[in-house]
Amino acid sequence: MGRQHKGQDRTREEVADRSRRRDKRGMPRARTAPDTAAPSARRAVAKTPRPPLSGATPAEPPLPPAGGAKTVKPSLRQAEAEATKPPLTQAKPAKRRRVPAMTLAEVRGFLTALAAANPAPQSELDYSDPYTLLVAVVLSAQATDASVNRATRTLFQAAATPAAMVRLGVDGVASHIRSIGLWQGKARNVVALSQALLDQHGGAVPADREALEKLPGVGRKTANVVLNVAFGQATMAVDTHVFRLGNRTGIAPGATPRAVEDGLVRRVPKDMLRDAHHWLILHGRYVCKARRPECWRCVAASWCRYPDKTPAPAAAPAPGQPHEPAPA
Ligand code: SF4
Repeated sequence: MGRQHKGQDRTREEVADRSRRRDKRGMPRARTAPDTAAPSARRAVAKTPRPPLSGATPAEPPLPPAGGAKTVKPSLRQAEAEATKPPLTQAKPAKRRRVPAMTLAEVRGFLTALAAANPAPQSELDYSDPYTLLVAVVLSAQATDASVNRATRTLFQAAATPAAMVRLGVDGVASHIRSIGLWQGKARNVVALSQALLDQHGGAVPADREALEKLPGVGRKTANVVLNVAFGQATMAVDTHVFRLGNRTGIAPGATPRAVEDGLVRRVPKDMLRDAHHWLILHGRYVCKARRPECWRCVAASWCRYPDKTPAPAAAPAPGQPHEPAPA
């Protein structure tokens, strides 16, 4: 027994001695080292909050210790790394490819193809004279021709001359055009331009761009339409369809409606210029649509420079037929 005690004491001393040497070298204690921490310290360790499980909401950062303890500052290296981080960049919108401009021969070919399909193009607005055309075009801003025609059907029954429109007044005009966009401002403009025609032009619509553009609610595009349709002038009104076609097809690329207008006036053969306005509007409205041009049925596709022409959709099944062939 005595020898056994001596052996056990020697073993404990060796273990303690080995542990002291490890502490001096900064090595972790052997796992077999006895836990010498006081019970209170063990309880304190047990109360230390565990780190959150992955995926859990991260906890609030700890408050700085009370009693004026210094806040730990980020190291210089951390600060430098933050400063040299590249700035967050937003995803850039996809760049639209520039379509090369058609040659003058291609412009003629393109318009000849449209002309063959529609030799006598007409405005789709209902009108009976330059005045009713002017009113209809003013009302057509940001509205479809069909909706304008529905409104003017009753409006022109009530007032088809400048004098009658002034008598009808803003509220009377508004009661006929409430179904189209921006009706309040348009009602005011129609009455004001009618009064201006009476005051300055003897109740007639002037065949002059400058005089037209001075009328309330009349801009360059409206003046171009009236000069083209009512007075037969070779003007080019650029609306949303013509602007799109000018750039998409390469017939007259330009960054602004005015640039497209000038390009078309310069590039379209003079004998085609007056009708080109309608060919382009109608082609943009019914075939070369904004979202999905119907290139597979476009009569001018061989002249068009648009690189992403829409292929023909798969043949639609006959009514009542399944999409997939029935199994044998
Ligand atoms: S081919 Fe397509 S993009 Fe070109 S004009 Fe015809 S519909 Fe428009």
